[in-house]
Amino acid sequence: MKNRKKIATVWLGGCSGCHMSFLDIDERILDIIQLADIVKSPIVDQKEFPYVDLALVEGSVTCDEHLAEIKNIRAKSKMLIAFGDCAVMTNVTGMRNYFPLNEVLDTSYVNAISNDEGGESPSHPCLMKLNDKAVPLQEVVTVDFVIPGCPPDADTIFYVLQEFLNDRTPNLSTAHKLKYG
Ligand code: SF4
Repeated sequence: MKNRKKIATVWLGGCSGCHMSFLDIDERILDIIQLADIVKSPIVDQKEFPYVDLALVEGSVTCDEHLAEIKNIRAKSKMLIAFGDCAVMTNVTGMRNYFPLNEVLDTSYVNAISNDEGGESPSHPCLMKLNDKAVPLQEVVTVDFVIPGCPPDADTIFYVLQEFLNDRTPNLSTAHKLKYG
């Protein structure tokens, strides 16, 4: 019998859509848990990031907290997968990169309020402070594999997991053929 593997899924600067697509594998999650334990995920109440075989990371790196998190994940993951287009190339989260950060914040929080008092940017110390630019994972850590898409479709996610959990390297052109012929 194969050794059971450990999987983590992580949500950095993303919208959670990639994780929603992961949940769309539906009952096939039972095939996954035959081979692996999901030990860290937004749906698992585990505070520390454990050592894992596979880490699927959604979203870009948008602040210093994300940077520290992805470095810790990299150090503890045998295989780090950029999960979805925001992780691969910043995608939606990188649209703000074309503008100065203060303009983005003013547009989002100050100018968007139309009453006479206007709005103000949230400044609570517990809130993360955005860096000037969102960056993709491979700009700050080594990435071993990418699952593209916004979000990636559930069949592709399932295919990639099945391949890695059976010690094979996924071929995304094969996954495309399986789905579309
Ligand atoms: S790739 Fe798309 S679905 Fe995934 S986090 Fe980014 S915007 Fe959301």
